[in-house]
Amino acid sequence: SIQDRVKLANGVEMPWFGLGVYKAAEGEEVIGAVRAALKAGYRSIDTASLYQNEVGVGQAIRESGIPRDEIFVTTKVWNTEQGYDETLAAFERSRKRLGLEVIDLYLIHWPVREKFLDTWRALETLYKERKVRAIGVSNFNIHHLETVMNISDINPMVNQVEFHPFLTQKPLLTFCKAHDIQLEAWRPLTKGEIFTHPVVQALAKKYGKTPAQIVLRWNLEHRVVTIPKSVREERIQENANIFDFHLSPEDVEALDGLNEDRRLGQDPDSFSFDF
Ligand code: NAD
Repeated sequence: SIQDRVKLANGVEMPWFGLGVYKAAEGEEVIGAVRAALKAGYRSIDTASLYQNEVGVGQAIRESGIPRDEIFVTTKVWNTEQGYDETLAAFERSRKRLGLEVIDLYLIHWPVREKFLDTWRALETLYKERKVRAIGVSNFNIHHLETVMNISDINPMVNQVEFHPFLTQKPLLTFCKAHDIQLEAWRPLTKGEIFTHPVVQALAKKYGKTPAQIVLRWNLEHRVVTIPKSVREERIQENANIFDFHLSPEDVEALDGLNEDRRLGQDPDSFSFDF
């Protein structure tokens, strides 16, 4: 079901499916999106300091009346907030904006060179102080993960990266599975670009599903956590309606075949520091 969870390396359970809120405006827009998602059964929300909508996310969660421990909240430390002391301070700001005592998952948003190891040490501190239930990274390539794993006794529990049929991330996915790092997909829908692809269209017809549902189901068949974004109630419901079917192995492969190693977002090895 939509509330099924995966056990992370430390035993904490994270929903396979959630709502992304990048570019959902603070206030009414993000509150409406989170409210609609919780009503549709979503139990995981992905925000970030960068998104500037943590206040609304927290408000919608509190107003829902759903017990806090049933909702999984992810936020992230932004590039300009990295470093040991800076990250501890950034965390307190996020926590205050969200109005939550404990954050379920705290991520390093991008691997800022010269900074991300100190940032990771701050995440370890927050984890040991039990202010966060799990810690992880985002936009880390294999070499970034290895750098962290070499200096730390705690491995990242999650790596949230761009992932869709145009960018199947096979080596990274294999590496993460081997080290019990849960991969999580951002931009899973390619913001819609993939919906008109003939292979996706044909599968939509075959399964009686929408292109969005086909692509999201493909995430789950790869055992990748997925957090599609929408602020529209009917799409929020549509995107969640993927727990009543499976793609056959052949059809998963057909979608894998669309890989072009093509990024729609920035490259972790050459991203611009602030954007
Ligand atoms: P997405 O692939 O989820 O696409 C979202 C867009 O697709 C929507 O704005 C809407 O225009 C369209 N859409 C959504 N559902 C639809 C439907 N059913 N039918 C038709 N169109 C539909 O892109 P995203 O928002 O970039 O990624 C999802 C989430 O991942 C973000 O909201 C954010 O939480 C996270 N993210 C993280 C990073 C990172 O660096 N860690 C980067 C980008 C996004």
